[in-house]
Amino acid sequence: MSYVPEHRLREELVKFGRLCYERHLLVAMDGNLSALLPDGNVLCTKAGCHKGFLTDDDLVVIDRSGRKLRGTGNPTSEMAMHLACYDERPDIRSVIHTHPPISIAFTIAGVSMARCVLPEVVLTLGTVPTVEYATTGTTSLADGIRPYVRHHDAVLMDRHGAVCLGKDILTAFCNLETMEHTALITKTARDLGGVKELPPEEAAKLRSMGLKRYGGPPSAVAKADQPHADLPDACKSCSGCAHPTPSGVAPKSELKMARVVSTPMYTPSMEDALVSEVIKALGR
Ligand SMILES: [Zn+2]
Repeated sequence: MSYVPEHRLREELVKFGRLCYERHLLVAMDGNLSALLPDGNVLCTKAGCHKGFLTDDDLVVIDRSGRKLRGTGNPTSEMAMHLACYDERPDIRSVIHTHPPISIAFTIAGVSMARCVLPEVVLTLGTVPTVEYATTGTTSLADGIRPYVRHHDAVLMDRHGAVCLGKDILTAFCNLETMEHTALITKTARDLGGVKELPPEEAAKLRSMGLKRYGGPPSAVAKADQPHADLPDACKSCSGCAHPTPSGVAPKSELKMARVVSTPMYTPSMEDALVSEVIKALGR
């Protein structure tokens, strides 16, 4: 993989920061973006800057222990998450952390995104696990995401946001956009009456094809021929599957066990009752 020079990475971080804001993937001072420099240090957005109005002055350079090397302002405490990603995944060059609203709502509602719903998402991104809650900016949150980012290019943190990885900034952004778009489609399907998941065998076939065709986390690519190997979270709910959890991840999160509701949120009779209540309340 070839390294992109620093001046290009600076332009891209500014551009994709604005894009994250315009696409409603973060607001105000939320989130942070980073890219790996050719010398192994990390170029990142500084603490307390609005990603929708980034300029070159909002970027700082830190070393792999988090110490600032260049730039005005300070790196955010959330850079510990980025550094954990670079440590765990030598194949990636960029990390984007944002607060995408629909995906975060899934974690608050206790509905898992580690589901195989859309074939093209299974093919390209796989499933999105949820990391258990930890206080933002702490080393326990950074350590908590490590076992997940080893095997996934997009993860959600409970009640917080997303961490998306890529071989470049565009790829990390695409993973983020795909995750939030999937959340929107899944939410809409739930509103319309329920979510039909892909049959486990079809999901496994798609993921295997996707890893061979498009690549992915090296640990997942290495197991591309093993059925269900890269879909451990989805497999928890499917029948007849013996792949309970990725190695190193405690199988205790209720989120990952959350069932996708297959019954309508409102049945016709519930809607009728609701309409009569509204009419009564309006005094008609
Ligand atoms: Zn955050």
